[in-house]
Amino acid sequence: MKYKSILLFGAPGSGKGTQGKIIGTIPGFYHSATGDIFRTLDLQSEMGRKFWEYAGRGELVPDEFTIKLWMQNIKGMEMINHFHPESEFLVLDGLPRTVSQAKLLADTIEVVKIVHLACSDNTKMVERLRRRALKENRFDDASDEVIRRRLDVYERETRPVLDCYAPEKILRIESTMSQIRVLSEVIDVLVPLKEAMDVNRELARL
Ligand code: ADP
Repeated sequence: MKYKSILLFGAPGSGKGTQGKIIGTIPGFYHSATGDIFRTLDLQSEMGRKFWEYAGRGELVPDEFTIKLWMQNIKGMEMINHFHPESEFLVLDGLPRTVSQAKLLADTIEVVKIVHLACSDNTKMVERLRRRALKENRFDDASDEVIRRRLDVYERETRPVLDCYAPEKILRIESTMSQIRVLSEVIDVLVPLKEAMDVNRELARL
């Protein structure tokens, strides 16, 4: 069975993590953020060093490594009963981030919706990243040069991922609106999806 998935899509600083964390507290939704998984790696380990080598420069971690680590993590979460794929949507935050990752995941996830947090004002996003770097000790966002590189990488490598999916699955939300307004729009699309999942499970049980 493929994981029924909702992709949170958008540039660094667009608010994917903020929204993902809130949605992950709603029953029926499991939030999985690749950046958070990477940051739990021990810095002394080979994997941890590899992550910081790339993230510190504002670059993406290589695809195979990213997918392998994420697969291990999600299988582990399933095994310890934190994630229940039959009754929960997977809310993916920061994955897939390249076309190649989208292909590597094609047999594992079924993308039902893409929430694209789009920002028409780049300077706002840069401001958010600067503020977050100070507040959360994110040293990948500590310099303007790295921030700029991360935004460039997004345009070049991540944005094309949107073309891998049917346009009717993509919902564009302006990310500079208030957090609660963004959340409200996201929830509006999640409600019918979750209700349909519940009905299908009921029918399957009959
Ligand atoms: P942001 O919220 O600013 O987009 P994340 O916490 O999602 O940042 O990611 C931090 C860093 O982790 C990225 O800059 C990148 O180096 C790495 N990373 C996260 N997700 C992926 C991915 N799917 N593929 C490759 N690298 C990733």
